[in-house]
Amino acid sequence: MLTAPQNPSPGLARVRERIARAAREACRDPASVTLIGVAKSQPAASIARAIDDGLADLGENYLQEAEAHARALAGRPLRWHFIGALQSNKTRPVAERFDWVHTVDRLKIAERLSAQRPAQLPPLAVCIQVNLAGEASKAGVQPDQLPALARAVAALPRLALRGLMALPPEETEIARQRHWFRELRRLRDALAQDGLSLDALSMGMSGDFEAAIAEGATHLRIGSALFGPRPPPVR
Ligand SMILES: *Cc1c(COP(=O)(O)O)cnc(C)c1O
Repeated sequence: MLTAPQNPSPGLARVRERIARAAREACRDPASVTLIGVAKSQPAASIARAIDDGLADLGENYLQEAEAHARALAGRPLRWHFIGALQSNKTRPVAERFDWVHTVDRLKIAERLSAQRPAQLPPLAVCIQVNLAGEASKAGVQPDQLPALARAVAALPRLALRGLMALPPEETEIARQRHWFRELRRLRDALAQDGLSLDALSMGMSGDFEAAIAEGATHLRIGSALFGPRPPPVR
């Protein structure tokens, strides 16, 4: 049977099923896992279809693209998550328009976001990105620098530090995938012993989200499994 092109986001239904199954296997409530649709390089029409089917959280890597999506999706109730690299001269629009930022990895960025968060909005929810494997190509604070950064970010008045985020090395074996996600959970739990209790673990993408759920992920960032393969970036 051919898939009808107007089929309402088949990707969303499939991903939700896989999330529910992985949550059951981990004895977790599927409602404790937030699905963030990663909109990077995706046409606004596929995103709109998923939103109409109930996708409530959208992840954006690039500000310009986020602005285009926001115009195309105006009027739809959505939580906006910034998940891209943050430069310090671009923090203001992020502080003004997003609900969450997952990629805080240095104090200067956090201080700017806090200072620029409009007074009429609730504090900006943030995760600290951790570079679990010390990969030179990736952003994120080194694990040994995390406690000091977390304490400093938690003290900022207009931010709500919610948890940790990681983009671990790509692994094909589920045991290896789980290893990295477990590392992030352990870092989160170690902060709790330090008096900083954080509820969010932003981890798991199209290729590894079942392993992330097994290790306690609360926020999955999923692009291609939801919207189809991305066209190669033009930037
Ligand atoms: C692109 C991206 C994702 C989603 O990747 P998929 O493999 O398409 O699910 C998740 N997180 C970040 C930070 C990304 O840049």
